[in-house]
Amino acid sequence: MPKFSTNKIVILTVQIEVIKGDITTLAAGAIVNAANTSLMGGGGVDGAIHHAGGQAILEACKKIAAKQGGCATGEAVITTAGKLPAKYVIHTVGPVWHGGGHDEAILLKNCYTNALKLAELHALKHIAFPNISTGIYRFPKGKAAEIAVDAVMNYKPGTIEKVTFVCFDEENYQLYLAKVASK
Ligand code: ADP
Repeated sequence: MPKFSTNKIVILTVQIEVIKGDITTLAAGAIVNAANTSLMGGGGVDGAIHHAGGQAILEACKKIAAKQGGCATGEAVITTAGKLPAKYVIHTVGPVWHGGGHDEAILLKNCYTNALKLAELHALKHIAFPNISTGIYRFPKGKAAEIAVDAVMNYKPGTIEKVTFVCFDEENYQLYLAKVASK
């Protein structure tokens, strides 16, 4: 029997992109929604995604909610993207900011890593994130940017080749540009 030995080093890198704009317009493998635990839609980016994606997204969310009672904070679920140019929507629930002593940081990190894991389960190459929890849920934007960028950079990629941070406001956009440039 011949013996084989391999000395192969595989370096996996992810391209990180920071843009300013509306996440509903992106033709990524998955766009991430900052949903709430009910999965029944809401304001902010959640409202924009359901509005632009149409009824099919809500129907899929209803099925998941009926089966597992919604989505816990830090967890993620995946649905069709309906009429959106993306292939899927990954719904994750960010933590509400209560001053920082209620596991907000770890829960926010979990949102990013669980969304990435789900994207890879579907063999996706490109995922786009909004600035989870920094709107209605009042997470401080600087801390949230730090957690988001670290979570992506510390994630060992499989199928994912590109991560886009889609910032909606100028403050987040500048924070993300600075954070990514400093790494
Ligand atoms: P959360 O409840 O998690 O705070 P929000 O939707 O209120 O969720 O806000 C999360 C982030 O999404 C905020 O930075 C907000 O400015 C941003 N946002 C709102 N609409 C869009 C959109 N269409 N595309 C990308 N980001 C958006």
